[in-house]
Amino acid sequence: MDGTARQHHVVVGGSAAGIAAALSMRQHGFQGRVTVVEAGGELPYERPPLSKALTEADPAFARPIVPESVYTEQRVDLRLGTRVLALEPASRAVVLDDGRTLHADRVLLATGVIPLTLSVPGAGLTGVVTLRDARDARVLAARLRRGGPLVVVGGGFIGLEVAAVAREAGLDVTVAELGALPLEGPLGAVLAQRVTDLHRGAGVRLRTGVSVAAFTGSGEVSGVRLTTGEVLAAATVVVGVGVRPDTSLAERAGVRCDRGIVVDQYCRTSEPWILAAGDVTNQPHPLLTARGRIEHWDNAQRQGAVAGAVMAGAPRPHTALPYFYSEQFGMTLQMYGRPCPDDEFVLRRDDPAASDGGFLGFWTRRNTLVAAAGMNRPGDLRAARVLIERRVRVDAPALASSATDLRALARAPMPSCTPERPVASSAATTPATPGREENQ
Ligand SMILES: Cc1cc2nc3c(=O)[nH]c(=O)nc-3n(C[C@H](O)[C@H](O)[C@H](O)COP(=O)(O)OP(=O)(O)OC[C@H]3O[C@@H](n4cnc5c(N)ncnc54)[C@H](O)[C@@H]3O)c2cc1C
Repeated sequence: MDGTARQHHVVVGGSAAGIAAALSMRQHGFQGRVTVVEAGGELPYERPPLSKALTEADPAFARPIVPESVYTEQRVDLRLGTRVLALEPASRAVVLDDGRTLHADRVLLATGVIPLTLSVPGAGLTGVVTLRDARDARVLAARLRRGGPLVVVGGGFIGLEVAAVAREAGLDVTVAELGALPLEGPLGAVLAQRVTDLHRGAGVRLRTGVSVAAFTGSGEVSGVRLTTGEVLAAATVVVGVGVRPDTSLAERAGVRCDRGIVVDQYCRTSEPWILAAGDVTNQPHPLLTARGRIEHWDNAQRQGAVAGAVMAGAPRPHTALPYFYSEQFGMTLQMYGRPCPDDEFVLRRDDPAASDGGFLGFWTRRNTLVAAAGMNRPGDLRAARVLIERRVRVDAPALASSATDLRALARAPMPSCTPERPVASSAATTPATPGREENQ
């Protein structure tokens, strides 16, 4: 019998990171018991469709991460509709809200994040909503079916995706954003302006440099009073102003937290029997200058898979380059890496395919490519990812020129992409299929 057969591993949170971890334990030969405890009552599902399918005729919000049969085949005990109330380090007990207690040799915390709300008058009115789970999506979809106006507070990814689908469905939509431009934080001013133009061109109204003073209405929301004094009419308000990591269990169990559960590249926390993965973690990364949270689907499932391997006794570090995608008005925005304010930004000029509204931008640090983002440019971005991971030296004019074939450079054998060598230019490129990054 395998030495792990008598062990019991408990995963708290059955979403992208937790399910990836549970399945990864089996892939790496763990023979013991695996239990996933999930507070939500539905078979674990993907969250990205929640903001994209809101106005579909028959939206399937709870698209399973894997079919139910996989849990049986892989001997993963799913405890749905069950919340973990506490972890007791002395006895390694996991206390559940159904009155039971599990003994765990090791625990993985994959508890994710909680949407922030606004503490202003009227915040409790019906129709002022956030979007994090399938139940939120069903409520919001039903409200959007009744029509607008829709006000989105916060021009982040989720807010802009909701704005896009609502506008495509013909609703009157206004986005109220605190910053100078939506998405300026992750994308920088130049690319954020492109995304803003896309929304404005589709008829989304935008108010920038504003915050919310109050939500107005009696029982139901009917308006949003901005800090400028303007009142926007609203039948529904989506508040998308950020999230906070759900560290409550970790903190009570004595795990070190600092704007997230602090982990190393192996998902280990300050408590040897507790690991953590996904949106809730504050993680280091070899290609980033600072630790932080990476609140994207790709990171959650890759980091979860690493945690599962570590728990199965097959440790490997989490090194995947941060990646996200977002879909707005039929276009796919993607980004690899995470630039710093001091990095040099380069916009690709003379893009022969720019008539589709797409674009491509790069960030370099000491002539090394560190991040790339684009709209409807998946092939170029996959190539840029390879160049970033290889820490290839590349000069800004080459990146700016559409004559530089990134895919050819990425296909080049390693010696020609060594860090000290600048890249050369060659033929132009054509985009491939957009969408999610494929799993490694
Ligand atoms: C509407 C929406 C759209 C998105 N779109 C994109 C996108 O287009 N691209 C992209 O890259 N990313 C997107 N994301 C982000 C992506 O979905 C997240 O990065 C990913 O879901 C994080 O997974 P996770 O497992 O770390 O945490 P979560 O998905 O937050 O799951 C945490 C789980 O833990 C459970 N839990 C918490 N505490 C307990 C407890 N005490 N006991 C039991 N269970 C508990 C919760 O119920 C929850 O199910 C989107 C997110 C949302 C909400």
